[in-house]
Amino acid sequence: MRIDLHAHSNVSDGTETPADVMASAAKAGLDVVALTDHDSTDGWKDASRSALDHGVALVPGMEVSCRTEQGISVHLLSYLHDPAHPGLLAEITKAKDARLTRAERMVSLLAEDYPLTWDDVIHHVAPGATLGRPHIADALVAAGVVSDRSEAFTSILTSRSRYFVQHYAPHPATAVELVRAAGGVPVFAHPVASARGRTVGERTYQEMIDAGLAGLEIDHRDNPEEGRVFLRKLAAKHHLLVTGSSDYHGTGKPNLLGENLTAPEVLARIEEMATGAAVVRP
Ligand code: AMP
Ligand code: FE
Ligand code: FE
Ligand code: ZN
Repeated sequence: MRIDLHAHSNVSDGTETPADVMASAAKAGLDVVALTDHDSTDGWKDASRSALDHGVALVPGMEVSCRTEQGISVHLLSYLHDPAHPGLLAEITKAKDARLTRAERMVSLLAEDYPLTWDDVIHHVAPGATLGRPHIADALVAAGVVSDRSEAFTSILTSRSRYFVQHYAPHPATAVELVRAAGGVPVFAHPVASARGRTVGERTYQEMIDAGLAGLEIDHRDNPEEGRVFLRKLAAKHHLLVTGSSDYHGTGKPNLLGENLTAPEVLARIEEMATGAAVVRP
């Protein structure tokens, strides 16, 4: 069984439609794939239909953007939650709205130094999609400022850049509680991805665990090996599930579907714990 529990479509910052992500998953030889768009479940319906057509199982999911009181960014994966749960829905709607204002502010700062307009950015965003820095990166690529998204993220779009603006995001422990309340299974995405920015310390792990964290995404290309050793110890100590995934974004990132996998027993545990939604099986 080849199981990949982290993939994005153009409902957020992936480049393929939800249906095409399912087609790509089948082509990559996956048996199971999770669709985990940032702060949105809008892709679940089309992905479900396409998963059945292509003979892959779909784990409906989401990746919630969070921030600690120290300003450290945390991504929380949620699997099989109820997409209509009011508490969780209110938080992601608030974050999605804030992302719009934030992108507008980043674009006006960038426009002082680069040939970039708001229309150039919107051109790269599917209707209703969760707006993020990758879409700004696409406009900068089109303008010839950088060669690809990765170059944008290592230069003018890093969180240390003078053009960077934050957006509203819930505390990770709050997000864990809300995912649980919505019947979902919360897994800390790429917890030690230090190249993206600062990573959290012991206290935040403990707060997330106390709130009901279910697992850690350890096998992810952005987690350096030393960090993985630490995470494996933490998972053993607190009986947390261990997942592995690609974080596929279509052509928006080099990450390939199936480059990291999750064990079937772990998926079985996720399904046992979840009460908000079900795996879609062909
Ligand atoms: P935002 O949530 O708008 O601050 O943007 C962060 C998102 O950008 C993350 O969710 C990643 O998917 C994406 N991202 C981060 N680094 C890169 C990169 N090097 N290339 C492409 N996308 C990236
Ligand atoms: Fe992303
Ligand atoms: Fe992420
Ligand atoms: Zn992701």
